[in-house]
Amino acid sequence: MPQSDAPTPAAQPQRFETAAIHAGQEFDPTTGAIIPPIYQTSTFVQDGIGGFRNGYEYTRGGNPTRTSLETLLAALEGAAHGYSFSSGLAAEDALLRAVLEPGDHVVLGNDVYGGTHRLINTIHSKSGITNDTVEMMDLDAVRVAVAAGNTKILWLETPSNPLMKISDIAALAEIGHAAGALVVVDNTFASPYLQQPLALGADVVVHSTTKYLGGHSDVLGGAIVLNDEELAAKVGFQQFAAGAVSGPMDAWLTVRGIKTLAVRMDRHSANAQAIAEHLVGHPAIERIFYPGLESHPGHALAATQMSGFGGMLSLSFVAGPAAARTFAESTTLFQLAESLGGVESLVGYPTEMTHASVRGTKLEVPENLIRLSVGIENVNDLIADLDQALPSS
Ligand SMILES: *Cc1c(COP(=O)(O)O)cnc(C)c1O
Repeated sequence: MPQSDAPTPAAQPQRFETAAIHAGQEFDPTTGAIIPPIYQTSTFVQDGIGGFRNGYEYTRGGNPTRTSLETLLAALEGAAHGYSFSSGLAAEDALLRAVLEPGDHVVLGNDVYGGTHRLINTIHSKSGITNDTVEMMDLDAVRVAVAAGNTKILWLETPSNPLMKISDIAALAEIGHAAGALVVVDNTFASPYLQQPLALGADVVVHSTTKYLGGHSDVLGGAIVLNDEELAAKVGFQQFAAGAVSGPMDAWLTVRGIKTLAVRMDRHSANAQAIAEHLVGHPAIERIFYPGLESHPGHALAATQMSGFGGMLSLSFVAGPAAARTFAESTTLFQLAESLGGVESLVGYPTEMTHASVRGTKLEVPENLIRLSVGIENVNDLIADLDQALPSS
């Protein structure tokens, strides 16, 4: 390959949509293949003992396809370092092990992803980690919760799942930092296209890339994105030493999905907004939980810290749990399944599906609630499906 002294396009600062397609995605220098190959290999031949080509030795420690995803993830969040894992929870687990020592305390939002709470409350608790959950919209309550002195992590998720509560990332980052805690934002629901927590003062962003980043419901993955060198080295060591890495094929599928993130998120947001507005005033619906509606208590805050309101929306039913269940089982285009963030629309009944693990705890969700992951189909087809599933009067 002839080398040029001119800066490569990749060396220029790129806008989000451009970075989503190009960051870490240089064409293959050997063949010119525009899509870098999937390095489906476990190990790398050495040029003499310790003579590694580009530093690659064994795929748990590093693989070019994973590197391309990690470079991309960091670019999307405007961060120095990205690490990808086999699932969102594997990523979270690696971060927790990198940061926490026995006796440390974690403060979590009272509506964080149920699996995050379960991971800390049942697995990390065995290493002497304690936790408290708090309402993240109540800044005074958060101040009290982190004042304990040994709080090492303040963990928040906005918009929250499934109630779509919006919490103030910048204000919470200040509160967390004043208490000496690391501020972690699970940015899965918004995606980096709609929300950039590091720019708002957070220290670490975690993702389940299974959702919007992958975007096609065909691959699991997780990510840790951060700026701090020292913590990055610790996360990298956890990834290498505990080994919950994403495989080359999974990393490649995730890269493939991310390229269309911007256009997908625009359509997810537009469809969800149209559906929310269509359902306003429906006699069967008690409340619509969507931050794009002006009536949503977090609307103004969401409009300042997000660049769009996303594709997740929940509904509660006047007639109670039975009506919610019947609705969830009556849609046809919205398929009944856990997960979210794919191109296809899904409906879920959180209390028995995604949030079954927090039933009977302070984190439980209303039983008359259903959650929609609004896909990118034609919005009129989606609305027709919801209308036929709703009781007619
Ligand atoms: C799905 C999800 C996770 C867990 O991710 P997995 O990829 O399923 O392990 C974490 N946080 C949020 C907000 C999620 O939606």
